[in-house]
Amino acid sequence: MPHDRPVPAPAERPRALVVGGSLAGLLAATTLGAAGWKADVFERSPQPLESRGGGLVLQPDVLEAFRFAGIPPDPFLGVTSDDRIYLDAHDRVISRSFMPQTQTSWNKLYGTMRSALPENSLHAGERLVSFKQSGDGVTALFASGRIESGDILVGADGAMSTLRTQLQPASQPRYAGYVAWRGLVPERMLGADAAAKLAGTFAFQQGRDHLLLEYRIPGEDGSVEPGRRRWNWVWFRKVSEGPDLTRLLTDRLGAAHRFSLPPGEVAAGPMREMRQAAVEHLAPSFSELVLATEEPFIQAIIDLAVPRMVTGRAILIGDAAFVPRPHTAGGAAKAAADAVTLARALQGGARELPERLARWETDRLAAGAAMCKWGISIGDRIMGLA
Ligand SMILES: Cc1cc2nc3c(=O)[nH]c(=O)nc-3n(C[C@H](O)[C@H](O)[C@H](O)COP(=O)(O)OP(=O)(O)OC[C@H]3O[C@@H](n4cnc5c(N)ncnc54)[C@H](O)[C@@H]3O)c2cc1C
Repeated sequence: MPHDRPVPAPAERPRALVVGGSLAGLLAATTLGAAGWKADVFERSPQPLESRGGGLVLQPDVLEAFRFAGIPPDPFLGVTSDDRIYLDAHDRVISRSFMPQTQTSWNKLYGTMRSALPENSLHAGERLVSFKQSGDGVTALFASGRIESGDILVGADGAMSTLRTQLQPASQPRYAGYVAWRGLVPERMLGADAAAKLAGTFAFQQGRDHLLLEYRIPGEDGSVEPGRRRWNWVWFRKVSEGPDLTRLLTDRLGAAHRFSLPPGEVAAGPMREMRQAAVEHLAPSFSELVLATEEPFIQAIIDLAVPRMVTGRAILIGDAAFVPRPHTAGGAAKAAADAVTLARALQGGARELPERLARWETDRLAAGAAMCKWGISIGDRIMGLA
């Protein structure tokens, strides 16, 4: 059992309002629930988020959060790989090292936590617009006109966090100088030669100013059976800030997006150019993978680090507080560690909140800053930006 302090009776449970129903929000709600809190999640998207996102390296912090939350271990949470290999532009393996790890998918983690949430605790289509706090509690106001009160407000609302913008308007993400093209391909769509080369590996190709990586993840239905999994790839490419980035992030209907484009939205010109570049620069196995992708999507790589995670009863976690570069493979793990340490700090109720939150904040600020610094050094080096 995770509890080392008494769990309050249901009627006395303190209430956490969690804003954002993606990974950090569900991690916070499930772990706070296990620590004796009543946690309600408010997610702005009216549709289920199930089909969003790509692959993730499964890190121990996520499994620790699941254990704490009492989420039963799923033996099929991910797909394992043994070797890390590097290919050159002619498909030759130029380096191989034994580094076993497990890869999962955003939707697998999401679905696992979603089914562990108490009924009626996830409120979809609720966008936070502002909040107030006093010495006794917090009040959150949503775009629908809904008003909710609780003991704490947890901002798990991502890199463009509304809560953070209200608390710390000067803390905003900064474009890092490159983007990640990403794609998912059903396992059977890749030819036999390429599949044989990539199977069971975490594979990379480092080129001048670009890096592609690939690994297998569970299928869209969560299956890890051979033949039903997916190839997941990420291709980091330099794009200058200004007209080039604006053009890339303008969708097929002409609407400009700030930092990402979801599957199905990339405009014809950038798509054609990316495919052409794949043929010219990538190892044949990788270009085959990229060309087999029906709906690639784009995420601009950004840096964000806040000076504070706690302001009274308002708390920032996950990407709302720190966005590490994806080379750390640590964003979800950091969100999990934020959540489980917060739940531990707040076990047993809302007593002595300022002291307990201050101790939690000191540790998590240091962890977030260190992960971001490490990610910037790796990313700038591999992209030739250092
Ligand atoms: C290319 C790439 C690869 C990555 N690979 C890995 C990896 O291998 N391993 C890993 O651990 N991490 C990885 N990450 C990072 C990881 O995906 C994130 O760090 C993690 O998902 C935590 O996100 P989050 O829940 O904090 O934010 P988000 O996923 O951005 O969720 C924020 C949520 O808040 C909602 N929201 C926003 N504003 C409001 C509002 N006002 N009111 C209500 N709801 C709101 C949004 O709709 C959204 O659902 C990767 C990231 C990238 C870009």
